[in-house]
Amino acid sequence: MTEAATTNSSRQEGHGGLWDSVKKAAVIIGSGIFFLAAFGNSLTWHLQRFWGASGDFWQNLWTKLYLAFEGHDPALFFLGTMLMPTLAFWVTNGLLILVDTTGKPSFITRYRIQVDKNNPVDPVKLAHTVRTVLFNQVFISGPMVVVVYFLMTWRGNPCGPELPTFHWALTELAVFAILEEILFYYTHRLFHHPALYKRFHKQHHEWTAPIGVVAIYAHPLEHVISNMLPPIIGPVILGSHLASTTLWYCLALISTTISHCGYHLPFLPSPEFHDFHHLRFNQCFGVFGVLDRLHGTDAKFRETKQYERHTLLTSFTPLSESIPDTTKKNKLLDPKE
Ligand SMILES: [Zn+2]
Ligand SMILES: [Zn+2]
Repeated sequence: MTEAATTNSSRQEGHGGLWDSVKKAAVIIGSGIFFLAAFGNSLTWHLQRFWGASGDFWQNLWTKLYLAFEGHDPALFFLGTMLMPTLAFWVTNGLLILVDTTGKPSFITRYRIQVDKNNPVDPVKLAHTVRTVLFNQVFISGPMVVVVYFLMTWRGNPCGPELPTFHWALTELAVFAILEEILFYYTHRLFHHPALYKRFHKQHHEWTAPIGVVAIYAHPLEHVISNMLPPIIGPVILGSHLASTTLWYCLALISTTISHCGYHLPFLPSPEFHDFHHLRFNQCFGVFGVLDRLHGTDAKFRETKQYERHTLLTSFTPLSESIPDTTKKNKLLDPKE
């Protein structure tokens, strides 16, 4: 093939690839929403059945909270945007830290992506990371949530008496996810610019094999611009209700924890994409990968075993076993390698 033909075919592949990754992202967001819809509906059904609640369970629950906090909107807002998401973060990460420090149970550790790393995790490095995360949550996220309260009350009435419909809340989540992908990708790439990388973003990359808490282990400026702004902006723009905002913040924190956790577990979103970013620094900047495909920042990733493993694991065999790394012996047998 001539060079021109090669370029042409790779360009065509690039376009097809972009459409392909848009579809993949749509599938991820769509199936997430579908799962939430199914989960929400059946949870509602069980709660109404067993708790004997009449009418709309969630609206009744919200009305109770609303009346209990009547006149104390800021407190209610702080509970939903700060305490609940922080609790979701620490419950998930508390369990992961137990696994990382003890190396047990093996039915989780066998799914480790970088098999020879963090086994067990360095306790000094872990303690330093946890301190930084707590600092970011208390001194950066806390005050930012106050600013968000004023922005959202100016924009609408987040603590209004009526909950949004379930379908509207799901639509909002899809919009939030798209905004997060766009803002996270470009701010994250900005922090990789040589003028900013060393001073701000290098700290987050101290972990070439990340663990859950690394999700918000970052310089304060990066925490504001890249970690907080992308998920915050959606609910402000849409003038969302506190309930959908709380759900979104919890989901965003749990999903970034999964992206960093270092284990590719069955039936959970694949963390291979962001794990590879920590391994190689100059690939995979986004969340869903659509913008990486558009800008070609996943080209090297797509040639790797990690890319082959970047799927929803639907069996109990670890992907490091079903798709093993190419050994030297295999390399000799396969002339393409
Ligand atoms: Zn990261
Ligand atoms: Zn980075």
